[in-house]
Amino acid sequence: MPDWDYEASRCVFGDLPGQLKRNKAVNRSQRMQNRENARFLEKYAVVCEECGERGKHWMPERPTTLQDMLDGTSPAGFWTCAKFYGPDGRRIEP
Ligand SMILES: [Zn+2]
Repeated sequence: MPDWDYEASRCVFGDLPGQLKRNKAVNRSQRMQNRENARFLEKYAVVCEECGERGKHWMPERPTTLQDMLDGTSPAGFWTCAKFYGPDGRRIEP
């Protein structure tokens, strides 16, 4: 089977560059969707170790650094669990 249809003077595979472009667009949107799902899962698929509810409730004040990993420490932060905050949004001191 020839790659090129000389009579029609076009590629027998059709509009290949156009198809590749469209495939790229589809792949891109699929990729973006996957990233969105991953972000969602990262946020909601975890169970909070403090209150047992779904969600990422620990908010570190800064990202973990390489030095933290070497020292075996984690950055300071705070919990956003509903049980720590009153109806006025103020922190309930334990
Ligand atoms: Zn929690």
